[in-house]
Amino acid sequence: SSFHSLHSPVFYRPLPLHRRPRWPRMGSSTPHHRNNQNKTKLIVIMGATGTGKSRLSIDLSTHFPHSQIINSDKMQLYNGLDITTNKIPLPERKGVQHFLLGEFDSIDADVAPSQFRSAAGSTIADIASRGNLPLLVGGSNTFIHALLVENCDPQVDVFAESSSVSRALRYECCFLWVDVAWSVLSEYLCIRVDEMLDSGMLEELAQFYDPTKAGVMVGLRKAIGVPEFDAYFRKYPPWESPENGVVPNKDCDPSRREAYEEALREIKDNTCRLAKRQIGKILRLREGGWDFTRFDATATFQALMKKKQSSAVAAPELEWREIWEREVVEPSVKIVKRFLEE
Ligand code: ATP
Repeated sequence: SSFHSLHSPVFYRPLPLHRRPRWPRMGSSTPHHRNNQNKTKLIVIMGATGTGKSRLSIDLSTHFPHSQIINSDKMQLYNGLDITTNKIPLPERKGVQHFLLGEFDSIDADVAPSQFRSAAGSTIADIASRGNLPLLVGGSNTFIHALLVENCDPQVDVFAESSSVSRALRYECCFLWVDVAWSVLSEYLCIRVDEMLDSGMLEELAQFYDPTKAGVMVGLRKAIGVPEFDAYFRKYPPWESPENGVVPNKDCDPSRREAYEEALREIKDNTCRLAKRQIGKILRLREGGWDFTRFDATATFQALMKKKQSSAVAAPELEWREIWEREVVEPSVKIVKRFLEE
């Protein structure tokens, strides 16, 4: 594995110095960011794809202004495909510094869990050494496990039947788990795929499409959307428009439409499958002794979908936000406060 990490063609590019934030030093009123064994305190926001982890991290950072976010979504580590991988857009970050978001270039290999462990480990140490509060946010449970455990064996797949989860962690962790009832989440995930397409996912994938790499499943090419649309682009290749660069084929031809619908169905299926696997892994970690506090965001998502399905007058925007604040943000702020005061 040391050979792998030294020679891996995945390049990690930390932000250039001029883009790194100026770190405010905190005064004597700083809450304790280390426990009595001198372990760094870390907030870990977990949950399946689509449950609002990024939103919660930003909402928490308005209550804890020295928060800085470290991404733990495997696909969002890579530079590129921002819509397809659902990276939080810059305006929604509200000025909160994010690390390991789009900082890796994917050439022809995956980021190994050990690489993530060392990159995220030194980022957390940096954040904590300046008196700021590190928030780990993202859905890659294998990476989260590799980062947090005291001893990480790169040869072992921790979620395999025969493996066991380690409770010995190198940080003092406050685990927040955002959960949504499956029937509601699965419906929401399908709507979200439609919305991603409306916001330019197909155009993004058309520009990313490389016929010489079709079928190669490494790095960012594993992102849901890439393999599913590869088949479509092979049949209906993107073309070079004089005004807009590379654009997808959008002919009215019914067989093209059918190939498009097929890719869409696969993306929705694979997204739901990913979410199910993620929930299964979170449950495994909990059974293994990781102490999660679970927040139920089901009512928020029901209100959000009601809003999407009806007219603005019938369901005000405010409703779902109020439920989210009441059921997820406020209780998690309380838990984080207590955790920092301990
Ligand atoms: P595994 O051990 O199965 O890799 P994991 O917990 O380490 O699971 P996940 O983050 O669950 O990693 O990612 C598994 C797969 O799900 C990825 O290889 C990719 O196909 C898809 N995936 C995960 N996150 C995204 C994302 N943000 N956008 C698109 N696809 C994603």
